[in-house]
This record gives sequence, C-alpha cells and structure tokens, in this order.
Amino acid sequence: MIFTVRLQGLNDFQEWRGVARQLLSAGIAPDELSWRLPGDHNELFEASDPALPPPRADSPAGTVPPAFIDLARAVICHSDPARPALLYRALWRLQRDRALLRAHSDTDVQQLAHMASAVRRDAHKMKAFVRFRSLSDDAGIERFAAWFEPDHYVLEQVAPFFVRRFTGMHWAVVTPVRSAFWDGARLAFGDGGRKSDVPLNDALEESWKTYFSSIFNPARLKVAMMKSEMPVKYWRNLPEADLIPSLIASAARREQEMVLRDATEPPTGHQRRLGRRVQTDPSTTAIASLAEASTAIGNCRRCPLFEHATQAVFGEGPADAEVMFVGEQPGDQEDLAGQPFVGPAGKVFDTALARVGIDRRRVYVTNAVKHFKFVPRGKRRLHQSPNAGEISACRFWLDLERGYVAPKLVVALGASAAAAILGRNATIRSLRGKPIPLEDGTLLLVTVHPSYLLRLPVAADRMRETQLFESDLRQVLELLH
Ligand code: URA
Repeated sequence: MIFTVRLQGLNDFQEWRGVARQLLSAGIAPDELSWRLPGDHNELFEASDPALPPPRADSPAGTVPPAFIDLARAVICHSDPARPALLYRALWRLQRDRALLRAHSDTDVQQLAHMASAVRRDAHKMKAFVRFRSLSDDAGIERFAAWFEPDHYVLEQVAPFFVRRFTGMHWAVVTPVRSAFWDGARLAFGDGGRKSDVPLNDALEESWKTYFSSIFNPARLKVAMMKSEMPVKYWRNLPEADLIPSLIASAARREQEMVLRDATEPPTGHQRRLGRRVQTDPSTTAIASLAEASTAIGNCRRCPLFEHATQAVFGEGPADAEVMFVGEQPGDQEDLAGQPFVGPAGKVFDTALARVGIDRRRVYVTNAVKHFKFVPRGKRRLHQSPNAGEISACRFWLDLERGYVAPKLVVALGASAAAAILGRNATIRSLRGKPIPLEDGTLLLVTVHPSYLLRLPVAADRMRETQLFESDLRQVLELLH
C-alpha cells in the first residue's frame, strides 16, 4: 500500500520532522510513501489517504547524528520537490547505518550535500543583493520594501539577518512565494507578491550608489561575472547596476590614477618591515561572500580609525565554523600581522583553548572593531578601547561575518564584544555564564577578554580567573554537543 503524506509548509523543518518521526515509528519504508507539497498539481485528483498504521514496538529509535539535523534544515528549503522523500530515505537508512553521512560516494549523501550547499549559496545571495526601497511615510513611520527572487525557499532563514541589520526600520521583503514583514518589534510572514508591489524609487539608492562607486573595481567585476557570483538576474534589482557602464568607461582613467597614487605613496615603516603594502585601491564589487568582505574591508572608511592603523584585521577561520569568538579590536601585533589574536592576548587565548580541547583551526575568530585604536607613546602604541560610535560603525562588518559564517554559538570576549553583539552596554558579571538566545537563532555566551587575565597583578587571582575563563570555554563545548 502507498501512503500519501501531505506537508502544509514548503520549507517547514519542524513539520517534516514530526511527520517523519511518526512514519518511522509506524515502520513505513520510504518506498511505501508518496510525499505531497503545497501546490502539487495532481493533489486534486487523488483518493483520500489510507490511515497510517499505529506505532510498532520494534520501530527504530529515530535518533540521528546532529549533522543530519543541520543538513535537513537546509535541504528542506531546496526547491526540488523530491526533498522530503530524499530526507526520509536518508533518515530511514541512518537508523541502520549511523555512519551514512560519511559515505561521500553514496548518491543520497551526495545529493543532500549538493542541495544543502545550493540553499546556503542562495541564502548568501539574498543577504548580499536585497535592496530596500522607500514605500511610504505613514504617520511619520517610513516603510521600506524589497523585491527578491530566490531560487530556493530561503526567506524564513534569511529574514532574521535583515532584522539584525535593519532593526530600526519597518520593512517587507517580498518574494514570489512568501513575504516577510518587520515592524521594529515582530517578524511575520505572509503570502508572496509581485515585483510591481515594490516601488522603483529608492530612499537608500543614493547611499548604495555612493558606496558602490567607491568600491568598484573593473577587474574584479569581470571575475565576479565569470564566476556568476553576481548573476544578471539579481542586477535588475540593484540600484547600482545602472552605474556600471559609466564606471567601466572611466575605469582606464581610474586605474591610471591608482598606479600614479601607489607610485607616489611609499609604504610606511610598518609596511616596509612587513614587506607588504596597505591597500590603497578599491578592491571589490558589491559584497557577495565572506572572502569579498575580507577584501572590501581594506577600503573601510566607516569611522576615523582606518587613518592610523596599518590595516583592517578581518576575522579568520572556516567559513562554516560552528563557533565564532569575538574579541574587542586588534592590538599592536595583530595590526602588523593582519590577523586576530596573535599577540600576548592571543597566546593566553590559544593556551586556554588548547587546555579545554577546542581546536582553534576549527573556530572563527574575529573582533568587534577591525582597526587598531591607539595613542603613540614614544616608540610604543598604547591600546585604547573603542568607543560606542566606533563599535557601532564596525557592526556592519561583524554582521556580515555573522551572516556568512552563521555560527551556532557566538562567544563574546569582553564587554566591547558583548556590546557589539547585543547593541547595548552591559557588565560581564551580569551576562557571564548564561547562554543568551539571539534573534537569528544563535546563542551568545559572554566571558572575559583574555587580556583581562594578563592584567591581573596577583598570581593567585590570575590563576582563579584563568580557571573561570577555561570553564566558560568548556561550556562552549557543552552547548555545542
Ligand atoms: N585583543 C583583541 O580583542 N583582539 C585581538 O585580535 C587581539 C587582542
């Protein structure tokens, strides 16, 4: 007998999971099932479904490795109608073969991985290419809307990113299938719409255009088009797209200017020592990936700190890391090396990670502020804490990193990092040790900054506080597992 299963949602992981558990406990094999999604054509002509048999005593436990849950959450958003059946087949097989997901030559495993990465890429594109347009000024509240055509059902997954990025605005993101609405307090979803629902004028257009012209580089534009990182489909919705012909026309002159400027700007002492040159030229098109963000930050002028620092220090680590550590800002050595946490505080950090068994190569490490802030004292550069304005200006980059890496857990090292993530000041004592859920579904854990341990003058205090820091890091492992 074939059982028909009708899902109400197109991408509702909880719904699929509930149904799949029921099917598993009734012992129904994948080939006894026919899955239906909303909008399936043949739905109307089908006879009513036979009732599911009751759970069987010998049915499998239904447990799966955590990696399957992550995979399934992504795959359920894919547009392939075969996705619920494929997921159920994998779930069924996992009951007999716990190591299935490590069988990289298995066609189901390959297909799942391929679909999950297509969904993740689509989500990244949505983050990079959505542009808000001014809709109305209703009773003093300006509303914004954006039109976007994702390839997969990623709106629900990406909407929290826009909530974080545009918390203070009232906005809607309209796609052909679903729309998301944010009123400054609540995120809601509704039916899809049409492109004509979103007006063409754009309140943010001028600032996008200014930003885009400042980072435009014709050489990278060609590469981006070849790699189809910025498909023409998305360009139609980008206000900066109509600038491109004139920017290309002036590119030769701009390149000539760059050459002249570089030739007349000798490297500073720091740069000579390092044998490297600080980027003076624009080096990106619109930011569409973590790698592009790490290049674009070389041109950051969001606050005055770029003027005296050697370079911006972007985060480092795998782009799919489960944990992101956020420090305050690069110190003297990080500023020279261009890498986070490589100086004295970095050594304390590395030692503590190693003692609790966290592999630094598997975590993403970054800072709330990406340029070194200091006052010169003779030959030394003395660290100064960033102020609220600098932290808030740099939140743009931290949000991009959080959006692209999408860690499960963010660890704030110290008060500046906590303020950058929470958007408000709070004491470490009031936040420490309690995992705090953030709007995008990640957890935040707050602990002290490693340099706090370095500054403690009494050895006994240092030892006690180091142990507390390490027990916070152990909590990271517990939360992940
Ligand atoms: N302190 C930080 O907060 N970050 C670094 O990268 C180095 C020191």
